[in-house]
Amino acid sequence: MTNKTGNTEAGFGVCGITPDAMAMRDMLLRNAMGASIYAQHAYEAFRTLKATIEGKTPFRITDLDKLYWFAGQCGVNTKATPDQVALWLSDFLMYELHRGYEEPSRIIEVFAPSVRQKVWRDLAIYPAGTLHEIKDAVASCLINVNGDFISLVRKCLRLGITTIYGAQIGIDMVQDILFGTPMPHEVEVDLGILDPDYVNIVFNGHEPWEQVTKAISGFSTEAVFKVLGGTLEPLASAIKAAKIKGIVALVNCATLATGSHDYVTVSLAKELIKRDILIVSGGCGNNGLEVAGLCNLDAIQVAGPGLKEICGTFKIPPVLSFGTCTYTARISMLTTALANHLGVDSADLPAAVTAPQYLEQKATIDGMFALAYGLYTHLSPTPPVAGGRELVKLLTEDMEGLTGGKIALGDDPLEIAIGIEEHIKKKRAKIGLN
Ligand code: SF4
Repeated sequence: MTNKTGNTEAGFGVCGITPDAMAMRDMLLRNAMGASIYAQHAYEAFRTLKATIEGKTPFRITDLDKLYWFAGQCGVNTKATPDQVALWLSDFLMYELHRGYEEPSRIIEVFAPSVRQKVWRDLAIYPAGTLHEIKDAVASCLINVNGDFISLVRKCLRLGITTIYGAQIGIDMVQDILFGTPMPHEVEVDLGILDPDYVNIVFNGHEPWEQVTKAISGFSTEAVFKVLGGTLEPLASAIKAAKIKGIVALVNCATLATGSHDYVTVSLAKELIKRDILIVSGGCGNNGLEVAGLCNLDAIQVAGPGLKEICGTFKIPPVLSFGTCTYTARISMLTTALANHLGVDSADLPAAVTAPQYLEQKATIDGMFALAYGLYTHLSPTPPVAGGRELVKLLTEDMEGLTGGKIALGDDPLEIAIGIEEHIKKKRAKIGLN
C-alpha cells in the first residue's frame, strides 16, 4: 500500500492518521512519560524545601550561597532571612512548574541563551510550565485530536525545553541548597567494593568485575569553574587552540538492545577522547565509564595529545562525571556559560550530545531538549519512528535549518565518533576556528 507520503511500508490508520503522525504520536507519548518523571521529581524537591523550613524533614539548608544566588536569579526577594527566602523560592518554583501561556518563564529568560529564546518564539516552541506542556502533549495523542506530525514535533520540542527549565534546573539547584553543591571527589566503583560482612544494596548493575576501580565523580558547573581557576577562559582558550576540539555531553542509560553491556558507551567514549574531544557525562551509563577507568587520572594517557595536555594541567580526567541524568540541567548550564563566554549561540558551539545506549524516556526527553537547544544529538538505539519517512527526514535533516540541531542515528561506536567529529569540525569552521 502506498500512502500520500510515498511510504510503502505503512498505510493510514483507521482514523486517517499518517504514518508520520502515528510515529510522532508514539514518540511524544514516550517523551511525556520522561517529562512527567522529571516534573514529579521537581514537585517533590520543591515541596521538600518548604517542608524543611517548616521543620518537617530531617534536612537543613546546606548551601546558603546557592540559596541566595539562585533565588536572586529567579527574581525572588533576597533581602530576608534564609528561611524566608527559601519559602519564597519554593513558592516561585511551584508557580513556574504550573506557569500558564500568558507570561514568559523567568527561568528561561535568565538561564537560556537569548538567541535561543528568539528561535523558540519564532518557531512557536517557547513553552508554558512543565505541567501544562505534559497535559497538552498527552491530550494531543488521543485519536483525532492532532494528526499533524509537525505540530506533534513542536509539542515535543516545547516539552523538552520546559523539562530542563521548568523542572530540572529547579531540581538540581534545590538539591544543592539542601544537600550541598557537588564537587569532584574520588570514589571506588565496581563490584569489588561489595563488603561480605554487610548487606550490600546494588542499585544499578554493571559489568561484574570483582575488582575495585577509582573514579573522580561529582562535577558540576561550579566545580568546573573552580578547577579552571574561577573562569571558563582556560577551556575557551583550549578550544580556540584546538587542544580541545569540542565537547560532547554523553547522557546515557545501559540498554542491551544494541550490544553487550556498556560496549557502545565505553567504545564511543574512547574514540572521542582519542580525538581530543572532552566528555561531560551523566546517567546510569556514566557508571560504565567509571568502571572502565575513563573517569580517573590514568585515563589521561588514552586521550589525544591536546586533551592530554589540558587534562594534565588541570588534573582532571578526560571524562567529567556529573552523576545522574537529572544533572543534564547542570550540563546545559555549563554549556550556556561556555557559549556566552565564546560569544556564540549554543547551536554554533563545537559540541554534540550522545545517548549511545539509551533505555528510558528520561533520556529521550533530554535528547529533545538538545535538539531544541541546537545540538547534534545522537541516539542509539533508533527510536521507533522509522515508519514515518517524512518525520525521519525532519528530525535527521531538516531540523538543522530550524533549531540548528538534528538527530543522528547509528549503533557503531566508530561511525558515531566520526559523525560527531565531522560535526564539530563544521561548527569550528563556522565560528572561525581551525
Ligand atoms: S533515563 Fe537512563 S540514565 Fe536516566 S535514570 Fe533512566 S535508565 Fe538511568
